[in-house]
Amino acid sequence: MNKPEPVPDEVSLHYWEGARQGSLLLQRCPACRFYLHPPGVACPRCLSDSLDVVPACGRGTVYAFTVARQAFDPAFADDLPYVLALVELDEQPGLRMVTNIIDSELSEITAGAPVEATFEQRGEWSIPQFRLAQRRVR
Ligand code: ZN
Repeated sequence: MNKPEPVPDEVSLHYWEGARQGSLLLQRCPACRFYLHPPGVACPRCLSDSLDVVPACGRGTVYAFTVARQAFDPAFADDLPYVLALVELDEQPGLRMVTNIIDSELSEITAGAPVEATFEQRGEWSIPQFRLAQRRVR
């Protein structure tokens, strides 16, 4: 059974097109510099409806997470146990994404752990996911 694929609309198309090319794209308000996610039609802070699309750095920290040990959709059974997480992006406090933490040691995932974006191919699209950040070599 195949996992569900994104169904982009005119508001989210930039996000999914970016992900397909391996880039995490966010909307940013040019008037007040506020980032928003998920994609929207207006800045939630100043209500400007003129939004730029800019690349995110792809880094963040685990804000909260849980481990799924039961597949409520059989398409995800092979991934068990898998991690559902809220990741706070480095761009802005409170800028959080619902995502999965993949390709990571379960026991090393903690709130506050640094993570980096990675992309999981899903049909003709890609899903932004995160993994524990690689240790930097000095
Ligand atoms: Zn704004």
